[in-house]
Formats: sequence, C-alpha cells, structure tokens
Amino acid sequence: MNVNGRCHCGVIKYTAEIDPQRILICHCTDCQALSGTAFRTVVFTLPDALSFSSVEPKIYVKTAQSGNKRAQGFCAECGSAIYATTVGDGPKVYGLRIGTLAQRDFLKPNKQIWRRSALDWVDDIGTLPGVLEGP
Ligand SMILES: [Zn+2]
Ligand SMILES: [Zn+2]
Repeated sequence: MNVNGRCHCGVIKYTAEIDPQRILICHCTDCQALSGTAFRTVVFTLPDALSFSSVEPKIYVKTAQSGNKRAQGFCAECGSAIYATTVGDGPKVYGLRIGTLAQRDFLKPNKQIWRRSALDWVDDIGTLPGVLEGP
C-alpha cells in the first residue's frame, strides 16, 4: 500500500510503501519517552520503500537495554517523530510513526507489544467522557 506523510511543520515530506499487515502499538518505555506519550503506533515499510522529497530527518541513535541500536528519524525543525530503523548498511525496513501519515485513519493496529510496561489506565480511555474538539 502506498502512503504519504509530512511532519507537523511541513519541512519533511515523504512517500512510502507499507505492509498493512504490520501495524502495531508499542508500549515500551523507550517509545513512551521518545513519543512523549503513553504508547507509539507504528507501521512498517517494505525494504527501502521510503523516500523524502527534499529534507531528510535528523537522526538520533538510541541504545536499548538489550544493546540494540535503532536510528530514530525526526524533524529537526518541529520535532515530529518520523521513523525508526536499523543502524548500518543493508536494506532498511522503516517503522513509520503513524501520526505523520495522511492515511492514518485507515491504519488500524493489529498487535500490541511490550504490554509489560503498558500504563495502567491505557485500556480504559474508551469509557472516558469525550468532546469533539478541544476545550
Ligand atoms: Zn517539521
Ligand atoms: Zn517501543
């Protein structure tokens, strides 16, 4: 499936081909800190199937507890998280952060990982009172 996206400020624009069978929610503590919120939702590209129209994201390499390194691409201007991928050479699969994708409404997660660190209240938000726009 072909998708496109952009960061909040619009400096970074991209197109990608994704695997719609691989959409997940990650509750790991790294995703909580890097996203600044409760969990992250990620869709994976096909190998090397991501291209940027002009400006490339800035890269932050995080080292996980396991020692694994992951390159985190984000907009240097507005801070929007764009992707994570492997470090080094070889074909790359990108885990796109779905909040920057134009098609995000249609990208429904089919799996959750790192439930061990999921926040206690995260399964209850469907029962909270809601309004259609901000206060
Ligand atoms: Zn930006
Ligand atoms: Zn994670």
